[in-house]
Amino acid sequence: MLHDPLFIGHDIYRLSSYGKSHPLRVPRVSSVMDLSRALGWLPPSAFRRAPRAKPRALEAWHHPDYIAALVAAEQAQQVTEDTRKRHQLGTHSNPVFAEMFRRPATSAGASILAGELLARGGQVYNPAGGTHHGMPDRANGFCYLNDPVLAILSLRHQGVRRVVYVDIDAHHPDGVEVGFQGDPEVLMISIHEDNLWPRTGGVQETAGGSAVNLPVPRGFNDSEMALAREALVLPLVQRFEPEAIILQCGADAVVEDPLAHLALSNNAHWAFLDHLMGVAPRLLVLGGGGYNPWSVARLWTGIWGTLNGFDIPALLPEPAQAVLRQLRFDGHRLGRNPPEHWFTTLRDAPRNGPISDEVAERIAFLQARHQL
Ligand SMILES: [Zn+2]
Repeated sequence: MLHDPLFIGHDIYRLSSYGKSHPLRVPRVSSVMDLSRALGWLPPSAFRRAPRAKPRALEAWHHPDYIAALVAAEQAQQVTEDTRKRHQLGTHSNPVFAEMFRRPATSAGASILAGELLARGGQVYNPAGGTHHGMPDRANGFCYLNDPVLAILSLRHQGVRRVVYVDIDAHHPDGVEVGFQGDPEVLMISIHEDNLWPRTGGVQETAGGSAVNLPVPRGFNDSEMALAREALVLPLVQRFEPEAIILQCGADAVVEDPLAHLALSNNAHWAFLDHLMGVAPRLLVLGGGGYNPWSVARLWTGIWGTLNGFDIPALLPEPAQAVLRQLRFDGHRLGRNPPEHWFTTLRDAPRNGPISDEVAERIAFLQARHQL
């Protein structure tokens, strides 16, 4: 049993970029590592360097032809037209870049390792994970591999059968849903923005009984998230009696994210984690989307603090502020004049509000369908 939570990270994320006009040009995991260390929250004993997954390990779910194409694309730094069409590599979303195999293979290696470390119980955090759009034979939505699927398969390899996967990223986890379609031992629950890419995950969609999808309208707030958590997600999770829970904490559902249109504060994510802790003997927390470098650094560092039960300071100490002040968000208006609290705090002001009819009706529909 791992008594203290473990953080799996790597420095490969520090200088890697998908390209200067891509949403993933901004630093994310390196900021979380730096900020956690500046707060004294990440001693060497809590940190594990992520191993890079070998092609063979990735083939537990991905097609060998696709993995070979991904390795070859990194080596050649270009793709053929056939590879672009067949595997969606070298597109605007999934560009050719320097670490296009090594970087996702490191995030996937961390999730596979997490499955092994959790065999006997505990809590692991892999903020570079959560690449929930990856498909068996193609890249999809900035995701070259699907580390959540590989984490579930890794847990299974250790004999852990019943897994709940909860996803609170703004986007629907289409790759994970495909991975466990009709599987009675996996329950996938997703809360995501309605009508946002990839436009899957309608409220009626059940993936053969393995998925519960709650699409939510633009402007979705902390009060609505708390209702979804208490009235739907927690009862479903508890009834499933999982041996492991995976929480994907995409940071693109907060109001300052440039790609989505939801209006959560980071309190919503931390509260979600807080309520899932202790429900199952094993917990793996993953990152995911998130394209505002300050929102991501603050939210995901707070996730690590919550996992450890650390008090979130009201005002960050100077070394932690320095990490946030160094961040740049070039090419976006949000980077021009960031508000001071993005440098001086981790916690957002709560964004409570009314419960919209749409949210209330969809939750009631799902409660009725699942006899809650
Ligand atoms: Zn997302």
